Amino acid sequence: MDIGFIGLGIMGKPMAINLLKHGYMVRVRDINKEAECELEKLGALQYISVEEFVEKSNIIILMLPDSPNVENVVFGNNGLLNFLSPGKIIIDMSSINPDVSRKVGQLIGEKGCEFIDAPVSGGEPKAVDGTLSIMCGGKREVYNRVLPILKSVGTSVTWVGDIGSGNMCKLANQIIVAVNLAALAEALVFVRKSGGDPAKVFEAIRGGLAGSQVMDAKAPMMLSSNYVPGFRMELHVKDLKNALLAAKTVDMDLPLTDMVISMMKSLCQEGKEKYDHSALIQYYEEMK
Ligand code: NAD
Repeated sequence: MDIGFIGLGIMGKPMAINLLKHGYMVRVRDINKEAECELEKLGALQYISVEEFVEKSNIIILMLPDSPNVENVVFGNNGLLNFLSPGKIIIDMSSINPDVSRKVGQLIGEKGCEFIDAPVSGGEPKAVDGTLSIMCGGKREVYNRVLPILKSVGTSVTWVGDIGSGNMCKLANQIIVAVNLAALAEALVFVRKSGGDPAKVFEAIRGGLAGSQVMDAKAPMMLSSNYVPGFRMELHVKDLKNALLAAKTVDMDLPLTDMVISMMKSLCQEGKEKYDHSALIQYYEEMK
């Protein structure tokens, strides 16, 4: 089974490495040629033209930043769509707007190919150790066919519904993570300003009802002011923007999401868009 993998960033690189470790033949592409070379040294097949890349790959996985990047790779000049022949499966693991997933899925379907949207949760550490959570949208039988591949990069793999459902689920995930992060930041700064020790409070509450994976992963980063991403603030803003857009289509307001995105945007305006999203605590630290 030959896999083509496009997008070798923080997440895509370790995911492609895990596919190699599971014995798949993997061809890689990225606009960053250094990332391609690094993967080729680890056993990935050498870069070829887009036409040959598509022809030789039974399955193509995308792990790109946002909807415009996916549209560019699929529909752009020299995009995948120009070269697809029936029977291929495209798995888009990027977190994008569910409406764009549906559009991409439809056009890929018109070429006689199958499409699954399969965004992930878990961040870089789980991408490295192959324990991502993966939420999938698409035909159930196509999901069953690609499940062994997805199990090579994740431990919790769930079929959620039709194309677009994976990204709808991911947006729900990102709303929950954002609001949790804000609550954590708010509480830790409250403790410090009240004369308490935030590290002791974290230790005391992490095993109780307030404890969460967000708390375990992000409180240590907040406490040590370590904002090396991980998950860049700008990507979380992108996800929350997509959530607000998607909510509009069902005539719903997302008041908590609105609040957190405005905090994150104000940090981005200060030049902190490449910081890990745990830097949200700086919004509270800077408050008068
Ligand atoms: P990233 O920016 O580190 O990586 C994206 C990669 O795509 C880069 O290497 C970039 O060069 C490449 N790329 C962009 N346009 C391209 C094109 N036209 N052709 C080929 N390559 C192209 O981003 P990431 O952190 O790896 O995130 C990827 C996706 O996963 C995003 O949608 C993000 O929201 C999602 N995600 C990230 C995390 C995380 O913790 N970083 C966690 C869960 C989900």
